[in-house]
Amino acid sequence: MKKIGDNYDVIVIGAGPAGSAAARRLAQAGLQVLVIEQRQKIGDHVQCAEFVPLMITKYADLRAGDVAQQVTGIKTFINGEVASVLRAPGYVLHRARWDKELADAAAAAGAQLMTGGRAVTVNGLVVTLLCGNKQQEVTGRFILGCDGPRSLISKQLGNQAGETCIALQQELTLAKPLKYAKIYFDPAWYGGYAWVFPKGRAANVGLAVHTSYTGQLKDLLAEFCCTLVKDQIVLDIAGPATTGGLIPSGGLVPCLANDHMLVAGDAAGCTHPITGGGIMNAVVSGQLAANAVIMQANSPAGKHLADGYTSAIQAEFGRQFAIARNRLANRNQGWTDNKAEFTTLIRRNWIAFPEYYAQ
Ligand SMILES: Cc1cc2nc3c(=O)[nH]c(=O)nc-3n(C[C@H](O)[C@H](O)[C@H](O)COP(=O)(O)OP(=O)(O)OC[C@H]3O[C@@H](n4cnc5c(N)ncnc54)[C@H](O)[C@@H]3O)c2cc1C
Repeated sequence: MKKIGDNYDVIVIGAGPAGSAAARRLAQAGLQVLVIEQRQKIGDHVQCAEFVPLMITKYADLRAGDVAQQVTGIKTFINGEVASVLRAPGYVLHRARWDKELADAAAAAGAQLMTGGRAVTVNGLVVTLLCGNKQQEVTGRFILGCDGPRSLISKQLGNQAGETCIALQQELTLAKPLKYAKIYFDPAWYGGYAWVFPKGRAANVGLAVHTSYTGQLKDLLAEFCCTLVKDQIVLDIAGPATTGGLIPSGGLVPCLANDHMLVAGDAAGCTHPITGGGIMNAVVSGQLAANAVIMQANSPAGKHLADGYTSAIQAEFGRQFAIARNRLANRNQGWTDNKAEFTTLIRRNWIAFPEYYAQ
């Protein structure tokens, strides 16, 4: 790896989809970009169910090898019964591979990538990195936090830790291939849902719940997997180690940027509050962040970074997230063990049903 310098136009923290998409665009505009990623290997290990809408190709390149499977749509189950079959084609990705390709594309455009380095503090324009036990300071005219749901940069902008769900997932072998992704709602899984996202002969099988259920998540997922075996959807519950993580559900963070610092992707709360989908939004927000930085860098006298970026993000996500936050609050407040009421509640508050949009 090339030795890193002391000064850059932009320091991007995090090489997930948001960081790599932003870094590529910034480097293409001729800016000196450093991307810092704490993991040794980009994309490894995957903490994601890997489902994206087909529309992702409008914003990012997908090669044939990045797609594990194309799905026809989403089947939603409530209380174990099919309640909706939605034609909403999408891809289930090989995210480790795709994340690496996004980062490689940023590097090919001229961004410098540093893996195995963690941003530990930010003081003004100076970022302190920790690589092993070695500390180093790097200065950037702009600092872009694409550092996920526990973002250092978001905190630095004054944002409190936002609402999140907690998710756990396993890869299991399917009894037979599936054309549809499956989503399951059950009163036992407060504030969340379970999924089976097919990847050819295997599937990502997971469960996300309200963080108050963190202690029960492992048992709930094990129970769900056993039901899938009983229903002959998966062959058995043996699979590689589980993965998981936090999924932001609170919507956009109050402060997205100041005059030199911005956040994008999960760090900015760009994950859809109801679905938890954040991959495409990470790419889109990373690109919007890059646009805002490029504009500010090209006209340093103007002070439009925070306003310009905030307006762009609000225009992209503001309305749909406001609706989603409202539905999430309704769903969690009305959560019930009564099966009939639960079905009505989910229909009013899940994107696959017309009732979601009719309020
Ligand atoms: C279990 C699970 C399943 C999910 N399933 C889906 C799905 O099917 N579809 C979907 O659209 N979304 C899904 N999501 C959400 C999706 O994974 C995220 O929204 C998406 O990864 C956000 O991209 P990002 O670039 O903002 O952040 P991330 O992908 O989290 O990338 C952030 C990067 O920053 C690095 N980093 C963090 N802090 C530092 C630091 N201080 N210094 C250096 N590097 C740092 C991290 O190592 C990481 O590589 C899921 C999330 C979880 C947890």
